[in-house]
Order: sequence, then C-alpha cells, then structure tokens
Amino acid sequence: MRSWLGSDAAVLATRILAGVVGSVLLLIGIAILVMPEVVSTALLSLSTGGAGINSLRADVGALFLGMGVFALLGAFSRHRWLLVVPIAFLALIVTGRAISILLDPFPTRTTGALALEIAFIVILASAVASHALSGGDQDRPNAVRIVLARGFVLSSALVVALVGAAFLLRPQVSSLVWNLGASSMLGQSALEDLPDGLHVGLAGTGAPMPDAQRVGISTFVIAGEHLFIVDIGPGATLNLERMRLPLEETDAVLLTHFHSDHIGDLDELMLKIWTHGARTEPTLVMGPAGVERVVDGYNQAFSLDAGYRIAHHGDAVAPASGAGGRAEVIDGFGADESVVIFDQGGVTVTAFLVSHAPVDPALGFRFDYGGRSVVLSGDTIPDETLMAQSQGVDLLVHDAMNPDMLNVMTRASESRDEPVAGAVATDIQTYHAFAEETARIARDAGVQHLVLNQILPPLPASILHPAFLGDARRVFGGPITLSYDGMLFSMPADSDDIAGQWLLY
Ligand SMILES: [Zn+2]
Ligand SMILES: [Zn+2]
Repeated sequence: MRSWLGSDAAVLATRILAGVVGSVLLLIGIAILVMPEVVSTALLSLSTGGAGINSLRADVGALFLGMGVFALLGAFSRHRWLLVVPIAFLALIVTGRAISILLDPFPTRTTGALALEIAFIVILASAVASHALSGGDQDRPNAVRIVLARGFVLSSALVVALVGAAFLLRPQVSSLVWNLGASSMLGQSALEDLPDGLHVGLAGTGAPMPDAQRVGISTFVIAGEHLFIVDIGPGATLNLERMRLPLEETDAVLLTHFHSDHIGDLDELMLKIWTHGARTEPTLVMGPAGVERVVDGYNQAFSLDAGYRIAHHGDAVAPASGAGGRAEVIDGFGADESVVIFDQGGVTVTAFLVSHAPVDPALGFRFDYGGRSVVLSGDTIPDETLMAQSQGVDLLVHDAMNPDMLNVMTRASESRDEPVAGAVATDIQTYHAFAEETARIARDAGVQHLVLNQILPPLPASILHPAFLGDARRVFGGPITLSYDGMLFSMPADSDDIAGQWLLY
C-alpha cells in the first residue's frame, strides 16, 4: 500500500512547495546582489555589530558548511556529480564579487578570496571532468547530463536574466526601496511600545581605544515618563538617534566625570535635544563639581554654530533661548556618599561617589522606578559605596577590563618599540575594575543581572569573551552580558523580568 506521501497529489504538492522555497531563496539571493545593505539589515540581521553575529553564524556558516559537505561527499563517494553543488555556489560567490568590483568603492581587499574561489572551482571542476572522462564507470554520464540538461541550462539562463533585469532596473528598485523604506524608517520607534517600567539602553559601550563595534560610552535610562542620558562619549549621539530615542524628551544629561570618552559628544547631543523638539530651555546637564566649566566651554565653542541654526531655521526649529546647556552641580552628598538628585513621578535618581583617582569627584548613578532598579558604575575600581548602592538591584552596568589581556598589549607595544602605547595599556589598569571583580561585586550585592561595558581591551570577536571574563562566570551565578552598542534591557514595573533586545543593526 502506498503511503499518502507517495500519492500523485502529494508528489505534485511537495514539488510545488519545494519550487516556492527555491524561488524565495533565489529572490533573496538576487536581492542581496542588488541591494546588499538593505537585505542584510532588514532580512538577515547581518551587521558588523553584535546583532549580526546570529546571521553570520547561521547564514554564512551554513553556506560554507553546505559547500564543504557536498564537496566531501562528491570527492569520496561514487557520486562525483555532487561536486556540481559547491561548484554552483562558488560560481555564484564569484559572480557576487565581480559585481562588487564593478560597483563598490575599494573592493580590492577581496582579491585574495576571489583568487582562492576560482582555484577551488577549477579543482572541483577538474575532478568532475576527469571522473566523467574515465571510462568504465556506470555513473560516468551523470555530471555531464546534469550540466547539459535542458532544464539546467534554461534555469541558469533564467537566473542570469533575473539578475541582469534587477541590475538594469536599479534606479527604479532604488527609488522603490526609498519610498517604501523612508516612511517605515521615520515611523514608529521600538521605544514607543515599551511597557511601563525601567529601560536601560546602551548607545556607547567602548573605551577610548578604537573598537569597531563600540563607540564612546553613553547609556540612556527610561524610567516611567522620564528620560535620562548618562555620559555622552564620542560618536554616541548618532547611536542614540539610530536607536530612535526621542532626544527632545530628555529630562537631563548626567555626567559621571569629565574624561573625554564620557563628554566628547556633548555638543552634538545638546544640539540634537534642542532642535529635535524646538526646545526653548537649554539642556540641563548635571555632573560633579566642574560641570559648569565643561558646559560653558561647549556653549562657547558652539555659539557660532548655534547662531547659524537660529538664523537658518528660526523659532520653529531652533528657538534662540534653547541653545546649548545649563549646568547644575551635583553636591550635598550625605554620610553614605550619596545624594538623591531627582524624585518625581515615582522615579528616584541617586548620585554617589566612586573611586576613579586622580579623577575626583567621579560619580555613579542609581535609578529606581516601579520596584525595579539599575546602577550605572561610571568609571571605578571596586568601590564600597557602589557596593552599598548595588544591594539587590536588578541590573548592574559596570565598567570592566582584563589586566592580563592588557599586559599582552603592553608587551607587544614594547617589542614594537612603542613605549607610549605600552604605558597607556598599563596605566589604565588602575582606573577600572577587573571583570572578575565586577562578578564578585554582583554576587555579594545580590544583583540579578550583570552587564559589563567600557570593555578594555576592545574585543573584536565573541570567541575572546571567555578569556576576558576569566573566572567571572564561576564567581557570579547570574547572567553576565558583555555589552555591545544597541542593546536595550527592559524591566517592566512590578515584575522580575529582564528582557533584552537590539535597537541597532
Ligand atoms: Zn574615566
Ligand atoms: Zn571611561
């Protein structure tokens, strides 16, 4: 008795479904060739940041694993024709590279890969050819039959025609993508749908050392109806905008201290807060003693720019009274070295002193709302006050470094006769907490989830995370997240949940 799957109707239906799958995969492939940036971000989540790791592993990993498996099966089984599969994929990869050389700026870095892929094709094709030409094997005609079959030739021609048409129609496709994309890009932000609670967004998680995945330090906190931006390192304002944060609703910018990697983008942030909402009051910038010098300096440096904006846009965008910043010094610390700086709408913001000598004072911040809490360490070595403030918090965002990894950099710099770079890698070790120490703090304070930022040294690949963390995961039983720019942690009010999502691709 034939099973239902063997029936004529099932054969037809599964063939049609398989054809649909093939067509969708084909169209995705053509779309990748025509508009790689749009497809890789919208469809595959493929980016250079942490959000893209999933697709890098899955999609690109599958492509190479698949080619490898079929090449091995073809090489070591009787079915040499299986080598046609990796040959076809390699030929499409070479096609993509050829298009890139024609269209993209500076594509030459892939020359080595291109040469290797062509060599692979030649090797695999010669294996198929020699097998086909060797007499006596009953499988001999298979490979030739497949390649010369009318269906294969016709479908190859169809693919070439589709790719060609897509390229000829690039102006139309390009306008269509803009028309469809612009409204959705300017549309709703993921932040508008957040539940009532405490939300912590990481717009910048790097340190002064260059890191391809992390700009200067900046964290935003949405607490109920209020929005705070803590520190604004170089490049972070653009990330805040890319994360669709409604900058114009900012209650205050809070500065932990005045190292350049914490304040380097303050001018840009104040400009965007002002002009996004046509605000009529200067941006409130709160920080330790010295904040007035920083804000006055920025106001001075960018007064000409403000004048241009006022003259160009007028009150509808840039009311003169809203330009620049207004500094407010955080002081009046109690015996426990903390002071409440904001208490409104159920939101409490507490500033406290941390240890970042010779920077003095340097601050950390704690936010409480709806039974949820987060502590942002700022820059500090392990600190008693921070430990006290972190008791039982849901989220602790702590700066972290790994001295052993930095020492490797010091030795490498010294061997290259670059003593200054080596000295910097050594000096910064007295500024920051070690990853293992942050785990101890999280454990002893009963923190629910530990997030490490200002990663030092920069870690270009996640394979380095275990080395960076050392014993941290053994010390602290809860989750530890090494941060990337674009992460958002959401803590709905009156719950224990901590949900993560990406706001940057
Ligand atoms: Zn610092
Ligand atoms: Zn720093």
